Amino acid sequence: MWSKKVKFKVGDLAVYLEIDSWVPTELAPFLTKGKEPREFEGIKGERLRTVKLRGQLSQGLLLPLEPTCANIESELFEGLDVSLPLNIQKWERPMNAQLAGQAKGNFPTAIPKTDQERVQNLKSEIDQAITDELQFEVTEKLEGSSMTVYLIDGVFGVCSRNLDLKETADNTFWQVARRDGIEEKLRSLDMDNVAIQGELIGPGIQGNIYKLTKPEFRVFDIYNIKMGEYVTPAARRRYVEQLGLLHVPVITYQTTVPCIPMYFLTSWGAVDELLTWAEGPSAITTSQEREGVVFKQVDGGMTFKAISNRYLLKSAD
Ligand code: AMP
Ligand code: MN
Repeated sequence: MWSKKVKFKVGDLAVYLEIDSWVPTELAPFLTKGKEPREFEGIKGERLRTVKLRGQLSQGLLLPLEPTCANIESELFEGLDVSLPLNIQKWERPMNAQLAGQAKGNFPTAIPKTDQERVQNLKSEIDQAITDELQFEVTEKLEGSSMTVYLIDGVFGVCSRNLDLKETADNTFWQVARRDGIEEKLRSLDMDNVAIQGELIGPGIQGNIYKLTKPEFRVFDIYNIKMGEYVTPAARRRYVEQLGLLHVPVITYQTTVPCIPMYFLTSWGAVDELLTWAEGPSAITTSQEREGVVFKQVDGGMTFKAISNRYLLKSAD
């Protein structure tokens, strides 16, 4: 973490921006280093990346609150999310035209989006998880594009990370959904009001780091829309098998060692150890460093991602 020529004292209020934040030039003009700022979703700015500065890993930016607070109307407290008033977005790599497709509508409000919190932001929650001896499923985090298919009151749909997509012949998400016969499979198992969420990986997607020759839809979540909750990891793995779909690689879960709580030492040690866990070869293509891992509480509840620092430092773009 670094800041430009600002000295912070204990107790000062500050805004922390994590990696992959799209930071408007207005907020941090020094990030553009005198170059013409780039644009994302209509906002001129820069993407925050993981970098090594004087031998230290930097994964964010700390800005003094004072000059930034003009647009913040809410009362200030630690942990307040100020991304909206400050116009800070999560950067996403632009999709090619085949992937982007055409929007039929917004992402269905009945289904949660697939975002995951970074483990580094969850120090106290992880302390609590250790005390409560929570158990987690660990799956490989795949570097692709988020895909959701759903059946809502008998209507089948396919979504990218943020949009409900129109069915067109050249859209990759729909092609894969059709190729894998997901609509028929859901109907034959009577799985109405369900969303299947996963990562689409393959040619033309995020650089195809797994060097696949065909796209794959790898499921990581199943959401029960009527109940308003995710099915448990164990139930999800069972459904994926019944549906004849592919699952994201499972690294360890409930019944195999090591159980995560026993693995923990101290809380900061824990976050560091989880980050060590994140590093390793991908189970999809072992010559490829994996992007990271995702932890999901076995009986539902807490989930978070641990991204491999080795991967972040290696991937150039
Ligand atoms: P990020 O890619 O940093 O935005 O992290 C969140 C995203 O990871 C989700 O939106 C998913 O698309 C993706 N993801 C990839 N693999 C997994 C996994 N095993 N479990 C959950 N999410 C995953
Ligand atoms: Mn991603």
